[in-house]
Amino acid sequence: MNERRSVEQFDVVGAGLGPFNLSLAALLEPLSDLRARFFEARSSFQWHCGIMVPGAELQVSFLKDLVTLADPSSHFSFLNYLAHEGRLHRFLIAHADRCSRQEFELYYQWAASQLESVRWNHRVERVELAAGGLAVSCSGGGSVTGSNLVLGSGREPWMPEFATKLRGDTVLHAAEFRTVRPSLRGRDVVVVGAGQSGAEVVNNLLSGELGLPRSLTWISSRLGILPLDDSPFSNEWFHPAYVDHFYGLSAERRQELLSRQRMASDGVSESLLREIYRRLYELDTLRPGRMRHRLLVCRRLIDLLHDHGRLAATVHDEDTGGIETCEADVVICATGYRSQFPEYLEPLRGRILDSDGALRIRRDYSLEWDGPPELGIYVQNAAEGTHGVADPNLSLAAWRSARIVNSICGRTAYRIEGAPSTISWDGADPRPPDAPDQDLSTPPIAGVNVL
Ligand SMILES: Cc1cc2nc3c(=O)[nH]c(=O)nc-3n(C[C@H](O)[C@H](O)[C@H](O)COP(=O)(O)OP(=O)(O)OC[C@H]3O[C@@H](n4cnc5c(N)ncnc54)[C@H](O)[C@@H]3O)c2cc1C
Repeated sequence: MNERRSVEQFDVVGAGLGPFNLSLAALLEPLSDLRARFFEARSSFQWHCGIMVPGAELQVSFLKDLVTLADPSSHFSFLNYLAHEGRLHRFLIAHADRCSRQEFELYYQWAASQLESVRWNHRVERVELAAGGLAVSCSGGGSVTGSNLVLGSGREPWMPEFATKLRGDTVLHAAEFRTVRPSLRGRDVVVVGAGQSGAEVVNNLLSGELGLPRSLTWISSRLGILPLDDSPFSNEWFHPAYVDHFYGLSAERRQELLSRQRMASDGVSESLLREIYRRLYELDTLRPGRMRHRLLVCRRLIDLLHDHGRLAATVHDEDTGGIETCEADVVICATGYRSQFPEYLEPLRGRILDSDGALRIRRDYSLEWDGPPELGIYVQNAAEGTHGVADPNLSLAAWRSARIVNSICGRTAYRIEGAPSTISWDGADPRPPDAPDQDLSTPPIAGVNVL
């Protein structure tokens, strides 16, 4: 007999549960009129576990958690987590304005463990158009249908092609540093890339936790080993008002801006730079000869080969045009992450990508696609080109999730729109039109805000 099993129907189906879809799941949780289901391939919440080095710190304020910037009263805030664990006072005394990535991962795990909508060990394998919605099939078995799909499966570690071919336990991406655990003691190690991940790997090598290498060569194509620009006016690029301004610009202008704003997202935390510098200084002065090190900037790795049991790295000097070959036992590529078209979306590729092979992303993070208009596909962490430098960053996680929730609901479930920024992106006077003129004749008293 041809028995038809009923397929569960949801308003929202999430593919992947990193911090971004976790934020969405947390904001959806109190909305009883929406049925949601989130599928995660792993067996529990993990946050970039392959590069969770001891001492790694969050690069943003802990207030940029799953919910606070959309709903400070949410149960799922970081502060509520601390209160729940009885750690509010000690956290503030210990850190004041910093937080370790390990503690933030514990917070994420605490939030994830309370969400009924989450299914672990479920890798989304296929999404296709079916009667009644988008049919989502998972490796964990079964299939559900959703009226809205939210892609939250993250970015993929990226390495140059010649390094990818040699990928294993001597050539690896920084994302697998703690899982591959290459043997480092007494070996010649090359680290490629001087963003936050490259710096974290180098700092960990210098700590000797996994054995002190014989030599370290740190290669960066940047002009130097450059700090994160975390200054207030640059941080206005991480304000919702800027996202909307950026969205309205031409594609060429957006591209240009992104390359000029890079250091606001990809630079290295200043405290980490200081720590590395100090460790190198101490190695040279207190333990001379213990480990050779060369820091090469304006140099680009252009080839990598196996050579008589060793690795030969070809390096281009961007200043002089010269080429040098550097021998190594281990090469760690901290060469970043890129958005890939998810395999599970292959059945819909032709309906989603435009003729240039790009996603067309609306302001509310939904895709323009060739499908029934009542079915929505939303993206998290795939809209840097249209929504700006904040897109892969945690800063706007709660705000973006709330915007997606509002769009799916078709109502203002979260009041998140319209907060003015300090920089006037559209050139308008930022004062509300009915604000009285301030008498500027009396000088303000120092330390007192005159608004
Ligand atoms: C090491 C590191 C540190 C960072 N630190 C900061 C920071 O301090 N501050 C900041 O603002 N930003 C930081 N970022 C940037 C950004 O916040 C993180 O990359 C963040 O984890 C992105 O979240 P995500 O949800 O998009 O993806 P991810 O965290 O990558 O999560 C994606 C999830 O989807 C799952 N998945 C993938 N495919 C499937 C599938 N087919 N089916 C089901 N599940 C699937 C994966 O298992 C994974 O759990 C950091 C990035 C890195 C790499």
